[in-house]
Amino acid sequence: MRALTRELFRLGSRSATEAARARPLLHASQQLRLFSEGRLASTQLSSDEEMIRGAAESFATEILAPKVQEMDRDAKMSPEILKALFENGLMGIEVPEDLGGVGLGFTAACLAIEELARVDPAVAAMVDIHNTLNVTAFSRYATPELRDQYLARMATDTVSSFCLSEPGSGSDAFALSTRAVKDGNDWIINGSKCWISSSLEAGVFIVFATVDPRMGHRGITAFVMDRDTPGLSIGKKEDKLGIRASSTCEVILEGCRVPSSAVLGEVGKGYKIAIELLNEGRIGIGAQMVGLARGAFDYALQYMVSRKQFGQPVADFQGMQFQYARAAMEIEAARVLVYNAARLKESGEPFVNEACFAKLKASEVAQSVSSQCIDWLGGVGFTKEFLAEKYYRDAKIGTIYEGTSNIQLQTIAKSIRQQFPDE
Ligand SMILES: Cc1cc2nc3c(=O)[nH]c(=O)nc-3n(C[C@H](O)[C@H](O)[C@H](O)COP(=O)(O)OP(=O)(O)OC[C@H]3O[C@@H](n4cnc5c(N)ncnc54)[C@H](O)[C@@H]3O)c2cc1C
Repeated sequence: MRALTRELFRLGSRSATEAARARPLLHASQQLRLFSEGRLASTQLSSDEEMIRGAAESFATEILAPKVQEMDRDAKMSPEILKALFENGLMGIEVPEDLGGVGLGFTAACLAIEELARVDPAVAAMVDIHNTLNVTAFSRYATPELRDQYLARMATDTVSSFCLSEPGSGSDAFALSTRAVKDGNDWIINGSKCWISSSLEAGVFIVFATVDPRMGHRGITAFVMDRDTPGLSIGKKEDKLGIRASSTCEVILEGCRVPSSAVLGEVGKGYKIAIELLNEGRIGIGAQMVGLARGAFDYALQYMVSRKQFGQPVADFQGMQFQYARAAMEIEAARVLVYNAARLKESGEPFVNEACFAKLKASEVAQSVSSQCIDWLGGVGFTKEFLAEKYYRDAKIGTIYEGTSNIQLQTIAKSIRQQFPDE
């Protein structure tokens, strides 16, 4: 049996889903694929949203799955996957159709991120940052010329990076020291950004710099920079625990000259732009973490129904059933929080706390479920031959980027405290 389950779940040319489909004994309707194909209890999707969710699911299972292990091992985003993401509209979900995008909304983007993360959270990270931070940045804050020029590229062939963090400013992001100095009609930018996702592949960078450190957050300004800007170079690439196919590098800015038209929004509005984008982006990370938890869960369940001990599938021991029933509830709870936050944001309602709830809960659920999945596979779960350990490694980032869990808690607590001022 062990040999059979090993064969079914062997990584490489066949994904777990494909392996499960190949099993002759289990009828498709009996498969425990609760989160992959089940009804969405938490929200009603429009037909367009259902379409993009389905497209992302097919992309993930058919195109992405065969590459996942290789990309993780080599810590490299496959150029074919990148190309296919653009070709399938997954890099321009919210970009208007006349600029080459799909023209859908924020929930649609979250659904696609969730489906991609079910199979590869690293690819989902890149798609998330590109769609929920950078496309939104251009759509909302850029001049019409800048917006049309960049969105058209970003929907078709140009990856983007969001450059806020620096060696000295992480959670305290607005203590940044990258400096922009006016020189005639241009700005000269000097500084160093770190932890920048997708920077190895990116063709466009949104860079936050201060025009005057004495002005505090009022000096922070967002600039658009092309990859070929003289003085912009990619530094050290991090060798990471998880989401290894998503590149994370230093971005070095040495005397980068950009025109005044490269300012995104207005001078001094970078703080507001970054805060607003990150508030929304957190929902995307929540979607990534829900997808990850679903992927790990489905993967483990498919193993547990095949693996027999004491003459029965290990999935049938009550001790196991109670564990996976509880995990299913936790995933659903996280999913509801993510969809709720996405719908609130889309309808223009306040959503900042709900976005924090969604990211915080989903990242915790992703960690706990992916950890349990290793236990549920027993010894093989501890090996690199099986995907469980990758989900576990990938889950860890959810509590760190776009605001650590403490920062989410701090934001929530601050708003609660405002509702209960001092007597
Ligand atoms: C894989 C990866 C990809 C990333 N991608 C990007 C990207 O594309 N663009 C970008 O700009 N950044 C990116 N980041 C940076 C990321 O956003 C930061 O790592 C994160 O915000 C935390 O900052 P820090 O690492 O400096 O940790 P620190 O801020 O030094 O935090 C260390 C610890 O102190 C705690 N802490 C800090 N302040 C407080 C407080 N006030 N109250 C309570 N606890 C606190 C934190 O919760 C944490 O546990 C990425 C990071 C990683 C690891």
